Amino acid sequence: MNALWLENNQISLQNVPRPRKPNEALVKIRRAGICSTDLELVKGYYPYKGILGHEFVGEVVEVEDASWIGQRVVGEINVVCHQCEQCLNGRSTHCENRTVLGIVNRDGTFAEYTTLPPSNLHRVPDSVPDEMAVFTEPLAAALEIQQQIQIKPTDRVLLIGAGRLGQLIAQTLALTGCDLRVVARHAHQQDLLKRRGIRIIPEEEIKPWRWDIVVEATGSPSGFSLARQAVRPRGALVLKSTYKGELNLNFSSIVVDEINLIGSRCGPFEPALRLMESRQVDPTILIADEFKLDDALKAFEHAAETGVLKVLIET
Ligand SMILES: [Zn+2]
Ligand SMILES: [Zn+2]
Repeated sequence: MNALWLENNQISLQNVPRPRKPNEALVKIRRAGICSTDLELVKGYYPYKGILGHEFVGEVVEVEDASWIGQRVVGEINVVCHQCEQCLNGRSTHCENRTVLGIVNRDGTFAEYTTLPPSNLHRVPDSVPDEMAVFTEPLAAALEIQQQIQIKPTDRVLLIGAGRLGQLIAQTLALTGCDLRVVARHAHQQDLLKRRGIRIIPEEEIKPWRWDIVVEATGSPSGFSLARQAVRPRGALVLKSTYKGELNLNFSSIVVDEINLIGSRCGPFEPALRLMESRQVDPTILIADEFKLDDALKAFEHAAETGVLKVLIET
């Protein structure tokens, strides 16, 4: 089958054998989305060799339990052991023996087929089209914030960054009724937020020590330092992006201001599907372009351009 292969910071289209794993479902990919993590993997941010891609919607074509056959599905990306200390204590996304779809020791979804254990799969409601369902994984990641902290309607919440993940975070935070402001660099990002009735704030108008909750979604040191200045004493600073290299951080100020630092990664799939089914969240406004798998290299070039949001690959 055709697949987008990453090796030594180079991506290329390769003809590879169709995957087969005992006790896993064979899923025919319908659409897959390029995310910032994919672009960082290509830059060599994490060591990974294999098929890229982890955001997808597909159809189950082979599996032991016949009730799955023909089902349109999305899939959780962490494949876990169910036996380690983390798994046994309800933290399976932190499984000590996990593989991660298209990220850690497991071939991903920019291919005609992939495999996942059936326990990772979620059926997609009929009313959720492919181009919406393909956003389930990043939307779930956005919702992890509400899993981790309580957001009150009276809270002042500042979101820094309105890129691929930032847009989804903005749409879900808006549902909490909090007093939300978003820092968005590009005009197009600002337009998408305005279309949803979400208020933006120019960087220079952000007063320090004022915000109950600050969510950092830029992954840049400047975004982090802005977030650090904005959060009030005893406020929460939620980190949604990884940072290249080391961050320079004055830890004493975190102690003195009693800041809650919260790292935030993968989230719950079922609520993400529900929010799209009810159209309370519409991620399709992020779609910038769509390419065939044969043009996946072009798709990656396009996704890497500044300000471009979601690029999809159709297989
Ligand atoms: Zn991703
Ligand atoms: Zn485990």
